Amino acid sequence: MTDAPSLEDELERARELSVSELADAIESIGFECTRCGACCKGHEREDGEGTEPHTATVFPDEVRTLQSAAAEATEASDPPGDGDLSGAYDWRDVARPMPYGLSEGADGPEGETFEWALQTDACGDCAFYEEVGERADGTPKGGCRVHEDRPLICETYPFSVALGGTTQPMGEAVDEAGMVRAHECEGLGRDISRQDAEELAAALKERAVRELEEAIGVRDNYEPVDPSDHDGVVVYDSEGPKRPDGTAIRDAE
Ligand code: SF4
Repeated sequence: MTDAPSLEDELERARELSVSELADAIESIGFECTRCGACCKGHEREDGEGTEPHTATVFPDEVRTLQSAAAEATEASDPPGDGDLSGAYDWRDVARPMPYGLSEGADGPEGETFEWALQTDACGDCAFYEEVGERADGTPKGGCRVHEDRPLICETYPFSVALGGTTQPMGEAVDEAGMVRAHECEGLGRDISRQDAEELAAALKERAVRELEEAIGVRDNYEPVDPSDHDGVVVYDSEGPKRPDGTAIRDAE
């Protein structure tokens, strides 16, 4: 039996990924975003009991970028009466503790988790998702309020790379080529230009590197604290343990 490769080994492999080869793979699978919004919205639970909220991993520095981007978007558009986009953006307006590993206590979620997820609205959709008209078939056309600054997980959907320690969004792969895996998405199989494939490939490589750096940071900065001393939930990210509002626990102790 051979040992699983270390996170450091996988990070080395991620750094050596060829953007050109990743682009070849993306071209062979094919992709064009149809603006269906499926990757930004909550989805029906398999048991038919309501909606499963959207979950997408976001890195701590991406949360800060989104706080600024959302505030700038608000200033630029200044939509009167738009409660979702008014005022400064708090950490919790952008991110929530990833629910995996948490349990439902009397006063809300409890426990420990190791990632942040994009915040969701009352419908379970990403807090930045909006409908911007109709597609040709009459279904809603999806848009992103922070498109230029969206996290890498959004920029690279529906693709991932076949490396340990990296995120595989929304279940099993439905197609693969070389190191690239493709996940469920109605835009798969459509023609993609070489330039778009290369841009996607570069973002995919960057995401793989960042995910592994984040995983190594989480492991190296892990110092257990008792969630019951900190509003019931602790998020261990690459910067150390934090409260659900993104504030560091260690700094204050
Ligand atoms: S940040 Fe934008 S692209 Fe990402 S899930 Fe939210 S609405 Fe979709």
